[in-house]
Amino acid sequence: MTQVDEKLEPILAEVLHRNAGEAEFHQAVREVFESLGRVVAKHPAYTDQALIERICEPERQIIFRVPWVDDSGQVQINRGFRVQFNSALGPYKGGIRFHPSVNLGIIKFLGFEQTFKNALTGLPIGGGKGGADFNPRGRSDGEVMRFCQSFMTELHRHIGEYIDVPAGDIGVGGREIGYMFGQYKRLTNRYEAGVLTGKGLVYGGSRARKEATGYGTVYFVERMLATRGADLEGKRVVVSGSGNVALYAMEKIIAYGGIVVACSDSSGYIVDENGVDLELVKMIKEVRRERISEYSRLKGTGAHYIENGSIWDVPCEVAIPSATQNELDGKDARTLVKNGVMAVSEGANMPCTPEAVQVFQAANVLFAPGKAANAGGVATSALEMQQNASRDSWSFERTEERLADIMRDIHDTCARTADEYGAPGNYVLGANIAGFVRVAEAMRALGV
Ligand code: GLU
Repeated sequence: MTQVDEKLEPILAEVLHRNAGEAEFHQAVREVFESLGRVVAKHPAYTDQALIERICEPERQIIFRVPWVDDSGQVQINRGFRVQFNSALGPYKGGIRFHPSVNLGIIKFLGFEQTFKNALTGLPIGGGKGGADFNPRGRSDGEVMRFCQSFMTELHRHIGEYIDVPAGDIGVGGREIGYMFGQYKRLTNRYEAGVLTGKGLVYGGSRARKEATGYGTVYFVERMLATRGADLEGKRVVVSGSGNVALYAMEKIIAYGGIVVACSDSSGYIVDENGVDLELVKMIKEVRRERISEYSRLKGTGAHYIENGSIWDVPCEVAIPSATQNELDGKDARTLVKNGVMAVSEGANMPCTPEAVQVFQAANVLFAPGKAANAGGVATSALEMQQNASRDSWSFERTEERLADIMRDIHDTCARTADEYGAPGNYVLGANIAGFVRVAEAMRALGV
C-alpha cells in the first residue's frame, strides 16, 4: 500500500477513529491522504491540520425514517440518509442511491468522493450524497412511487435549488426522480425545477443527462489512449454493469469503433464475441427491467451467460467497471494485466480495490479514477441546473459538446497536476490533488 506522509498520519488516525467501523469511508479517505504527501511538500498551507479535518467532516448528516405501505397493505420501514458534505464551491450536489447495502458509511464515502469530483468539473457545485436501504427489486410501480413520496416528505425540508440538489444513482433513475420531484412540488407549492437533476425532458430535464456519465467515461478513455498514440477502434472492451452508466458507455464505445464483448448485472455476466447487441440489452434492462441472463436466451447462438465467476476473466484491452464499489479486486486486476489490458476507467464510484489500483499502476496500465472518469454525469447535472435557472432548454448537440469539453478539461487537469507534482501519468494523484486544492482554496477564503 502507498504510504501516507508522516505529517498526515496523526490527522488520518484521528479521522478514522472519529468514523469507526465505516470501511468504505476509510478506504476513500485513505486514498486521498496517500496523494496529499506531495502537497505537504509543495504547498504546506493546504495541508494545515484543521483544514484537512474540516474537509473530512461532513457539514451535516441527516438520517430519517421512511415509512410506506406495500401492495399488501403492510407498513414497511426503511432508513433514509442525506450527507451534506461540503458547500464551499456551491450548493451540495450528488445522487441518491436506493440499495439494500446503503448505510451511513457508504453514503459518507460517496459524499466525500463527490466533493472532489464536483470540484474537478470546474463548475459551482459542492458535494453531497443520499440514499436509503430500500430494495426496489421486485417492487411494483405503485410501491416505488409511495416509497419515493415518503422519502421526499422528509427530505424536502433539507434541499432546494440554492441549498442541496440531489439526482439519481444506483436504483434511482428517471422514474424515481419524477416521483420525488412531484412530491417536492406538492409539498412546497413551488415549481422549483433546479431542486433535482436527472429530470425527464418534458418537465425540465436536460438532453444528454441520461447518457452523460457513460459517454464522459469513454471520452476520458479516448483521451488517455491518445497520450500513447492509441484509440478505441477495434479494441475489445468489457463493461461491467448494465445500468445507466454501463449502457451509455457501451453506446459510445461502439460509436468509436470499439467492440464490447461482455457486460453484467448483479446476478452474472454475458459474453458475446460478436459484440454485444446494445439494443437488446437496453430492451431487457430499460424496458422490461429483467435480468441480463435473458440476453443469451433471446440471442441464441454466439452469446453465453455465466452466473458464477468474474467478468474480469474475459480478455480485453479496455475495462470499464461500471457496477458498484469494490467490484474489481487485486486478483481480477492481475488477470486483466495478464490478458493485456491497456486502459481501465472507473464508470462507477470506487469500483477498484486499492490493491487492484496498485496492480494496474505497477503494470503501467492507464488508470482513470472514478472521481475524474465518471464526473460527466454530475457535470451535466450542473448544466441542467444552468438551463433551469435561465428557463432554457439546450439541444442535444450543444449539451454534449459542453460535456465533451468538460471531460477534456478534467483529463488535462489531472494529467497536468500529476506532472506538476512529479508523478507523470498518475491520474489518481492528479485527480486527488487538483480536486483537493480547489476545495481547500475556497474553504480558506471563506474562513472557519
Ligand atoms: N450519482 C452520480 C455521481 O455519482 C451523479 C450525481 C449528480 O448528478 O448529482 O456522480
